[in-house]
Amino acid sequence: MTYLAAPAATLEVINKYGFHFQKKYGQNFLIDANILEKIIEAAEITREDGVIEIGPGIGTMTQYLAEHAKWVAAVEIDKNLIPILNETLSEYKNVMVLNEDILKLDIGRLVQEKNSGRPVKIVANLPYYITTPIIMGLFESQVPLSSITIMVQKEVADRMQVGPGTKDYGALSLAVQYYAKPEIMLKVSPSCFIPRPNVGSAVIRLTKFTEPPVQVESEKKFFSIIRAAFNQRRKTLANALTNSISLVDEKGNGMKVTREHVCSVLDQMGLNQTIRGEALTLEQFAHLSNIL
Ligand code: SAM
Repeated sequence: MTYLAAPAATLEVINKYGFHFQKKYGQNFLIDANILEKIIEAAEITREDGVIEIGPGIGTMTQYLAEHAKWVAAVEIDKNLIPILNETLSEYKNVMVLNEDILKLDIGRLVQEKNSGRPVKIVANLPYYITTPIIMGLFESQVPLSSITIMVQKEVADRMQVGPGTKDYGALSLAVQYYAKPEIMLKVSPSCFIPRPNVGSAVIRLTKFTEPPVQVESEKKFFSIIRAAFNQRRKTLANALTNSISLVDEKGNGMKVTREHVCSVLDQMGLNQTIRGEALTLEQFAHLSNIL
């Protein structure tokens, strides 16, 4: 078995197939075995686990996943990588390679077929250009999953983990923290990839809650309030919500609120009328959404 997690092994495969990196697909391949071992450890992969890997590249992390998990479904958009994956993973009988776009794949159906609907783990060195749609898609589609352990841009990992009152706090922090417990597991330098990305990276584990930590009467309304609050983050919350065109009610229909109404709700919550969205906790957004 040739492991790919070393610069020479990766370059050999790339040269053999005349593979050209495609920037549009966010292709930065891991070449550090130590980082890969830490990712497997962080994801707590065992022989009981079904794993979906997003973007296997040439199969570097897939090899590690296959050796620890029950089965791995590796979803790769770039058709030029499929013959490479078929060779580098040929010894693993528990790996299935799918040439699909993860944003279009019916993951719920895959989990139903491969795992009888029991929760799977998601592990990936993500293509950074679609980090947020991938994460939100996984959470919002209610795919049965227990955790998501992913390499992302360091700043994005920070945004997912922080609380109110920091510059990184925003709609992504609140959305992630509504669905999961985020923990940054390790930081990764650009030198661990070929080609080197222009940004620092971090591995973050999102452990999905069985029940959200706050009760909201309508998730649609709740998330629309969060979006409106951070759309123009320098505005006060009252100004951002007044007559906002992005607010929707529980049925998804457009909803308009007056300034007086928002201010009276803020009073009711014991909050200052000049408060900004970035100062509110998840609990306060839930409360606001339930009474607005
Ligand atoms: N897992 C490999 C590694 O760690 O070396 C490659 C990681 S690379 C950062 C991201 C991978 O995601 C690339 O192989 C890229 O082609 C793939 N990819 C990009 N967009 C995708 C999409 N929409 N669906 C599935 N795979 C995608």
